[in-house]
Amino acid sequence: MSVFDAPLTDRYGRVHRDLRISLTDKCNLRCTYCMPAEGVPWLAKQNILTTDEIERIARVLARLGIVELRLTGGEPLLRPDIVDVVRRLSAIEGAEGLLRVSMTTNAIRLDRVIDDLVGAGLERLNISLDTVSPERFAELTRRDRFDDVVTGIRAAQQSGLRPLKLNAVAMRGVNDDEFCDLLRFALSFDAELRFIEQMPLDAGHTWSRAQMVPGEEIREQLEREFTLTPFGERGSSPAEEFLVDGGPATVGVIASVSAPFCGACDRVRLTADGQLRNCLFARTESDLLTLLRTGGSDEDIAMMIRRSIAGKLAGHGIDDPGFLQPERPMSAIGG
Ligand code: SAM
Ligand code: SF4
Repeated sequence: MSVFDAPLTDRYGRVHRDLRISLTDKCNLRCTYCMPAEGVPWLAKQNILTTDEIERIARVLARLGIVELRLTGGEPLLRPDIVDVVRRLSAIEGAEGLLRVSMTTNAIRLDRVIDDLVGAGLERLNISLDTVSPERFAELTRRDRFDDVVTGIRAAQQSGLRPLKLNAVAMRGVNDDEFCDLLRFALSFDAELRFIEQMPLDAGHTWSRAQMVPGEEIREQLEREFTLTPFGERGSSPAEEFLVDGGPATVGVIASVSAPFCGACDRVRLTADGQLRNCLFARTESDLLTLLRTGGSDEDIAMMIRRSIAGKLAGHGIDDPGFLQPERPMSAIGG
C-alpha cells in the first residue's frame, strides 16, 4: 500500500481537505491583534518557499486528498509573483477536479491585480476590514490606508467573484459599537460579513478572554437593528450563518474561542518558511523546507505530512489552564 492510498485522517477521524498556505510574513498593515508596531522578527529570506517548492508541496497534498486551498499571509498580494502562484496552484488536479483556490487579503492594491487573479483561476476572496471609520482604521492598523482598502473591496465587487466575504475581528473598546455599521457596509458591497472572535495570536501576547467580544454578544448587537434567522449546517465551516432580514443577504459569526469547531476541523497549514502546522495553535511544526532542500521524495513529504496530522490534538485548548500561545504571531502562521 502506498502512502497516498488513504485520506489524510487524524486519530479522531477528521479527514483533512483544506490547505492554508502563507505566502509571506510581510504586510503593509500592522493590525494590533496580529503584528507588533515595530521590530518584527522577519523570516529569513532564504527560507521562504519558492513558488516551485509551494507547488510541489501542494501537489503532494492534493494526492493526499486536499481539495480546497486558501492563500494567506502576511499579505499575500505582497508576493511579487502572486498571479503566477494562483495560476500554478489552480492547475493542480485533486480528488474533486482542479483545486479550488481562494485568498484572504487586506485588499490593498487588489484593484491592480484582480483581473489577472481571476484570469489565473482565483475562485473566491475574503477581505479583512474591522471598522468603517478611516480614523479608527488608521489607529487599529497603524497605517492610513482605509481608502485603498475600500478601492480594493469595490474592485472585488465588480470582479463578480462570489460569494465575496468580508472578515471583521470583534474587539472590545475598538469596534464593538459598530457591528451594525459594518454589516450595512458589507451589504452595500453585496458582500457576506463574518465576525471573528479575537484569538490569542497577537505578537504582543496581550490577549485576554475577558476582553474578547463573544459571538453571542455580536449577535445580540446585530439583532437590535436586523432580524437574524439561523440557516445552513455548520459542517466543517467555522461560521454560524444567519439570513439578514429574511435574506438573501447573510452574516456569519465565527466563535472560534467561545464555541470551538475543532471537532470538525479539516485544515492543515503551511507557513511561508515551509513548516507544516496541524493547527493554528500548534506548539510544534514539521520541517518540510529542510526535507525538500535535502532531496526528500514526494513519498517522504507525504509521510511527514501524515505524521503531522496523526499528531493533531483534539482541540485548541485555549481554555486549558496550561494553554500556551504559539510562538509565531498570526502574520507568520497564516490566518
Ligand atoms: N493580510 C491578510 C488579511 O488581513 O486578510 C491575510 C492574513 S491575516 C493574518 C488573515 C486573517 O486573520 C484576517 O482576517 C485577520 O483579521 C485574522 N486575524 C489576525 N489576527 C487575528 C487574531 N488575533 N484573532 C482573530 N483573527 C485574527
Ligand atoms: Fe497584515 Fe492581515 Fe495581520 Fe493585518 S491581519 S497585520 S493585514 S497580516
